[in-house]
Amino acid sequence: MGLEFSFDEFWSQPTLEFKQSVVEFARESLTHDVVALDRDLEFSRDAWNRCAEFGLLGLCLPSDLGGRGGGIARAVVAMEGLGYACRDNGLTFGINAQTWTTQMSIFEFGTRDQRRRYLPDLCSGKIIAAQAITEPDSGSDAYSLKTLAREVDGGYVLSGEKIMVTLGPEADVILVLATVDASLGQWGVTAFLVDRDTPGLLVEPAREKMGLRTIPLGHVTLNDCFVPEGGLLGQKGGGAALSSASLEWERGCMLASQIGILERQLEQSVAESRTRKQFGKAIGSFQTIGNRVAEMKIRLEASRMAVYRTAWLKGQGKSAVLEAAIAKFQLGEALLQSGIDTVRIHGGRGYLTENEVERDLRDAMGTVLYGGTSDIQRVVIARLLGLPA
Ligand SMILES: Cc1cc2nc3c(=O)[nH]c(=O)nc-3n(C[C@H](O)[C@H](O)[C@H](O)COP(=O)(O)OP(=O)(O)OC[C@H]3O[C@@H](n4cnc5c(N)ncnc54)[C@H](O)[C@@H]3O)c2cc1C
Repeated sequence: MGLEFSFDEFWSQPTLEFKQSVVEFARESLTHDVVALDRDLEFSRDAWNRCAEFGLLGLCLPSDLGGRGGGIARAVVAMEGLGYACRDNGLTFGINAQTWTTQMSIFEFGTRDQRRRYLPDLCSGKIIAAQAITEPDSGSDAYSLKTLAREVDGGYVLSGEKIMVTLGPEADVILVLATVDASLGQWGVTAFLVDRDTPGLLVEPAREKMGLRTIPLGHVTLNDCFVPEGGLLGQKGGGAALSSASLEWERGCMLASQIGILERQLEQSVAESRTRKQFGKAIGSFQTIGNRVAEMKIRLEASRMAVYRTAWLKGQGKSAVLEAAIAKFQLGEALLQSGIDTVRIHGGRGYLTENEVERDLRDAMGTVLYGGTSDIQRVVIARLLGLPA
């Protein structure tokens, strides 16, 4: 697929220059009032479109499909820059969700027609895509899903309920996992691309939530939705394989922006530790604060290596199930802990919404839940180490 690259590329001059251009773009062009959007649960389509114009939605896709053709290393490092400089973690999460889950699935498993039909418009921001897997009774045990895809003349009829779909309320196309026969277990799971205007598709407005409030998340109901043969993504019964490949991208690369957030939090915390004085001294001179800052740095560097290793393996076309699970666990827990540490270091000021410190902590909580909870990453790692199921 032409995604191969050398490990050095993460630190190459062109990659770092591109990262810097993303940082400058975010500082100059993503200046919307995130405190207000977060309070009002609002998504900035305008900011989304600016990111698309800059090319952030097509970082790892070839130019004939509307992408920038820059490769995986550049994409990962660029997302780091976005996470670092853009204060809107919801927007960053949404861009990454679309990039690594839906777009990569269409790129890797789509037919020529499906790629041409969706990818250029997704890269340009003209349309938005979401992925719907979770259901009321199937979350961590994702392949026990009940949404049924009944085969009929010329296609399939889908019926079921999907919950917690990131970007669902804004989506023009939804990648839906359904089963063609529940008795087949994971071998019946099949992926479909369902267009927004499909009769019977009901997309709820955004749900109120704890963090990532600037990206909409909603429930989707499929009431006898006819999806033509051309809407089948990958093979009939191949949905679990597609979803596993997608999860490797999601657990590994999608969290690249979180490295940038960890870096921003570290810089903020170092600055605060050097300037804030108590008992006649900078608070950074207290060992407790120094330990916290040191641990934030360790978490940042460990997280970066975990993501780079996963991205590199994926680029080689190798399996990265174990590495992706490690990266997901590491990043999720690191972001949560560093969010807590940053608030602690800023004292009561960190607790005030106006200072934009507490929001990172609220946003971090989702990271230990979506794409498989941290508990599930532990389960995956233990199984891959040979422990019995
Ligand atoms: C911000 C956010 C965005 C999301 N976006 C999407 C999306 O775009 N599309 C989508 O389909 N879904 C999405 N989800 C849903 C997400 O994938 C699920 O929440 C997640 O898979 C967990 O499933 P669940 O919520 O049903 O929890 P459950 O599976 O019910 O788990 C409940 C608890 O039990 C633990 N648990 C479950 N099984 C085990 C086990 N075997 N061993 C140990 N502990 C276990 C879990 O870790 C958790 O603590 C999103 C969720 C969040 C928070």
